Parts: sequence; structure tokens; C-alpha cells
Amino acid sequence: TLVLSDRLNAMQESQTIGMAKKARELAAQGVDVISLSFGEPDFQTPQYIKDAAKKAIDDGYTLYTPVPGYPELRQAIADKLKRENNLDYKPENIVVSTGAKQALANTVMSLVNPGDEVIVFAPYWVSYEEMVKLAEGVTVTLMGSLENDYKVTAAEVEAAITPRTKLIMYSSPCNPTGAVFSREELGAIAEVVARHPQVYVLADEIYEYINFVGEHVSMAQFEAIKDRVITVNGFSKGYAMTGWRVGYIAACKEIAVACEKMQSQITSGTCSIAQRAALAALQGGRSSADEMVEAYRRRRDLVLDIVKDIPGMKTPKPSGAFYVFPDVSAFFGKTTPHGNTIENACDLAMYLLNDGHVAAVDGAAFGAPQCLRFSTAAADEKLAEAFRRIKVSLAKLA
Ligand code: PLP
Repeated sequence: TLVLSDRLNAMQESQTIGMAKKARELAAQGVDVISLSFGEPDFQTPQYIKDAAKKAIDDGYTLYTPVPGYPELRQAIADKLKRENNLDYKPENIVVSTGAKQALANTVMSLVNPGDEVIVFAPYWVSYEEMVKLAEGVTVTLMGSLENDYKVTAAEVEAAITPRTKLIMYSSPCNPTGAVFSREELGAIAEVVARHPQVYVLADEIYEYINFVGEHVSMAQFEAIKDRVITVNGFSKGYAMTGWRVGYIAACKEIAVACEKMQSQITSGTCSIAQRAALAALQGGRSSADEMVEAYRRRRDLVLDIVKDIPGMKTPKPSGAFYVFPDVSAFFGKTTPHGNTIENACDLAMYLLNDGHVAAVDGAAFGAPQCLRFSTAAADEKLAEAFRRIKVSLAKLA
């Protein structure tokens, strides 16, 4: 019989992908399912980027690429970081990877030793914890409070740091809560980190452009800790390029070289065509993203407008990204029309799928078992219909 590795057996299957699969199965039976489980823009990649990819093939960009990325793309990323984030990096500080996901994984695998503690701000993106597990690190989750829009505070970070702490991981704008850290909030955390020279920070800025409050702050802007910050970003969300698989880190030279080494043994350089498309994306600036952001903002408002009239759903107002993440614990212990008890968010997600035909994701996957995550990256009419159905289904619980 096949014996799989302990490493693999310890890993969770991605819950977001699992829920999407169940929704597809129902849809295949002819049920009109509205799937709000996936973290994917419902926009197409802008045409100028597609055109650049076609041209890349004709221009012969079809062979192995340098492991850390094409020099012109690394330069364009360094220019972007200067122009938009006021960060000084050279191309040698940039490593291009197959999605932001690989950029994160490279960093965790390069920095974390067995037993090292990694502080993960919760609610967190599903893969952080699994990556830490793969590296045999110990995840220390720090849960932000609903009252503070789920943002962890500097005092909470200070209290969680031990001599074994190696890394802090967070996303801002945050998947799943949509929280955006302010300059004051990140600055206070940076001050704490500055006092602990063994601690590094992995700042996941993949939702940078999807921000409804305005200022995006990069942790690396705080000079005192800049060399201990690894900034992760990419093209998936801001340019609606999830399928192209291009992301990157910006970090000090030693960490960039480490990530390059890690990547050289696992995937080599990122797809040549996708890299050329990413270069074109940057050269086109961020105006295509700005149009999408307007739609995401409108949808957030549309959803919040319905949710405010659903008793028992408590949600902060998302400042960015494209999710709402309500606390639904008020429904735990209630009974469905079929006489089943809703024990937890997973039961509630299954009930909403079966009764209202709306797919959401159990907050437990994000370290918040009292919540459900709904993506707002769907057409306005679909979103409105989905939340009307949710309201009706929830009202049937007794
Ligand atoms: N980080 C966060 C917070 C995300 O939500 C995602 C995608 O869902 C990623 C990273 C991964 O991005 P990519 O598709 O570029 O690998």
C-alpha cells in the first residue's frame, strides 16, 4: 500500500478550493448555484496585457528564463516600488516567482527552521499556516478583535514575541477581512519589531490596488526594519491575472539570493510569456486596476446594504480586497427546517449551499471559526440575488 509522507498527511486541502468543488457538483446537477467562495477577480485580464503575451511568443520568448526573473522585469518592479511605494530597491533585490504564493513559500522555506515561531495575524489567508507547517515551524496565531476591524495591535505583537520568534506574516489589504492597516498602526508594529533583531516581517501586499481608503502603507517604508522586511506582491489581483502566475518579493540581497536558490531547485524561472505580460502590465500603469476597484467598492456597498438588515450577521466594513467576512456565531445552535442543528460555520456554509444555493467558505480555514467568507468579486445582480437568498435561508433557522 502507498505510504504518503508525514509532511503531506499533516497538510490540509485548501478549503476554498474544496467548497468551489462542491458548488460545481451541485451546478452540474442543474442547480442555479451562486459561488462566492473563490478569491478571483471576475474581470478579464486587460487586452494590452494579452497582446503583449501574444507578441512575446512571436518574439521568441519561449525558452528557459533566468531563475529570479528577466532583468527588465526586475528593473520594472524596482521602478514600480520606487514610484508607487517610495521604496529603494535594485533589480538584485527582486525575485520573480510563479505567483505570490510561491514568493511566500520561498520566503518561509528559506527563513524558518524547525521549531521557529511564526506569528500569523488572524484572520489569515489559508496558505500561511500550511506553509509554516511544511517548514516545520510553529504557528502562533494572533487574532485581531472585531471591534478593531480584526487588526492586530502593536501591543499584541509585543506580547507574542519570544526569543524563538523568527517571522511575522500578515496581509494588508487583508484576505479575508478586507482590513487595511494605517501608517500609524504599521509604524507602531515596526517599532516593536525594531526592538527584536531576530524577527523578520513578511508583508503580503497582493491586494495593494484594491483599496477603498486610499493610502497603502508598506512595512518596508519603516527604515529601521527595512532590511528585515520581505514585501510580497504580484499581478493576480490588481491586474486580474490569476491564471498567469506571476508574483515577486522585494527583500535584502541575502534573502533574495536565498529565495532564488530555493526556487532554482523547485520550479526554475517563471514562465517566459507570463513574465513578458507582467512587464507590459507594469508599463501600462495602474489605470486598469482603478476601474476594477470602482466596481469592487460598489459591490461592497451593495452587499453591506443588504447585510445590515440581516439580524445576527456582524461584519466590519471592508477597506479593501473583495470579501466580506461576517461573524455568524449568532446562528450556532439553531435548527434548520430539516431538523438539523447548525453546530458551526461549516454547517452554516453547507446549509446556505443546500438551501439558498450560495457557496461561501468556513471561516475556520482562515483561523476564524466564528465567521464565513463571501467573495464580492461577482456581478452586481448576482451578488444582490445571493444575499437576498442568504437572508431568506437564515430567516428559516429557528
Ligand atoms: N496572498 C493572498 C492574501 C491571497 O489572497 C492570494 C490569492 O488568493 C495570494 C497571496 C496568492 O496570489 P497568487 O495567485 O499570485 O499566487
